[in-house]
Amino acid sequence: MENSYDLIVVGAGALGAFHAYFALQRGLKVLLLEKDARPMEATVRNFGQIVPSGMAEGEWFEYGRASLATYQAIQAECDLSIRPTGSVYLASSALEMQVLEEKHARYRALGYPSQVLTAAACRQHLPAVRAGYCAGGLRFAQEVTAEPDQLIHRLLAYLVARWGLDYRPATAVREVTAGSAGAGAVDARGRRYAGAQVLVCSGRDFQLLFPDVFAQSDLQLCKLQMLATYPLPQVRLPGAVLTGLSIRRYAAFRACPSFAQLRPDDVDPALRQWGIHLLFKQAVDGSVIIGDTHEYADLADAAALDFNNSDHINQLVLAEARRILDLPDWRIQRVWNGYYAQSKSQEIFQHSPDPRIHIVTGIGGKGMTTACGFAQHHVERLGLSRLPPSAA
Ligand SMILES: Cc1cc2nc3c(=O)[nH]c(=O)nc-3n(C[C@H](O)[C@H](O)[C@H](O)COP(=O)(O)OP(=O)(O)OC[C@H]3O[C@@H](n4cnc5c(N)ncnc54)[C@H](O)[C@@H]3O)c2cc1C
Repeated sequence: MENSYDLIVVGAGALGAFHAYFALQRGLKVLLLEKDARPMEATVRNFGQIVPSGMAEGEWFEYGRASLATYQAIQAECDLSIRPTGSVYLASSALEMQVLEEKHARYRALGYPSQVLTAAACRQHLPAVRAGYCAGGLRFAQEVTAEPDQLIHRLLAYLVARWGLDYRPATAVREVTAGSAGAGAVDARGRRYAGAQVLVCSGRDFQLLFPDVFAQSDLQLCKLQMLATYPLPQVRLPGAVLTGLSIRRYAAFRACPSFAQLRPDDVDPALRQWGIHLLFKQAVDGSVIIGDTHEYADLADAAALDFNNSDHINQLVLAEARRILDLPDWRIQRVWNGYYAQSKSQEIFQHSPDPRIHIVTGIGGKGMTTACGFAQHHVERLGLSRLPPSAA
């Protein structure tokens, strides 16, 4: 049967695309269906910071490490826009610096290289950083960045050309089924596709497929506001730049003994209210991407988050950004919102309404760093195998 596959994947974001990749590597016949003409959700709206250093030690740090290796392996074959730029955490106080030094020691024990930087060394590496902000830093030279508006499109083209992926954009799936005749998907035009297994990686879309499953889940939607300056070719800001508020926010640092001494009250309440922590990344055109903010809503109220981009919140972000960096031009060329789903109780949401159907979403704010490693592990765990030739 022409429309019959070992695996059908719904959704061509990072989770769906990397599941497809690892299934193809096992020799499976894979169909990837994407509702938009080009994916344009979280996977293209993010910073492109691939930072295992920010993950909690254990399972998700290991997914980050595995992702890093896979990004680099694919980049060696095909330009995904991965750049070996490294990442730096900037401490804004002696206490944050102590946390970074403790993390450095933990990473040494884990065999994950990092380098403690003095304040002067930070400013040598990142001349735009203000002396008054920076108490020192921790650098991960092995970490990489990507251009999110390019990465997924290049990856999909590579999967089609190199691995024979059957990729169908502009194909919204309206139903996923499993019955005595097998499993499959039906698109909005009524076309049917049969698959031994179906994987639903539909990101923050909770209305088209399995709305009742999502309504009963503890998933929530998170909205992030992002800004980008005009191109600043005279500024050199290589790699992912993470700041004191990131040290306070990222799970990686909670294991450090001094973390408990970082008092929430030391952070401006307005920044806390909107979940603001400052990250920077200079895109290849020289513009500096600045973010981000976090507003949460349960799925029943998610629509209310969708529309506005608040200038008040953007101004809070910019005021904090100006405290950290000295840029020659702070005019903003563009602003946008990004959205991701996350579970309140788990690192990722997984549910199988049938042994042949697997919903995987809600990876939260760490998908560019970990989706690849998670997908590799998940494809192995599902034990996906090829259909006998007569059925394919
Ligand atoms: C602003 C922002 C900044 C971020 N920065 C970083 C970062 O620097 N580093 C990091 O590690 N992570 C970052 N993240 C998180 C990361 O981007 C996400 O975790 C990741 O992209 C989620 O991937 P996904 O595949 O689950 O979802 P998505 O990218 O949302 O993909 C889901 C896809 O499914 C498609 N789809 C949905 N329903 C259907 C259907 N019925 N039929 C067909 N197709 C369907 C959608 O169109 C979409 O393309 C950031 C996120 C945001 C929003």
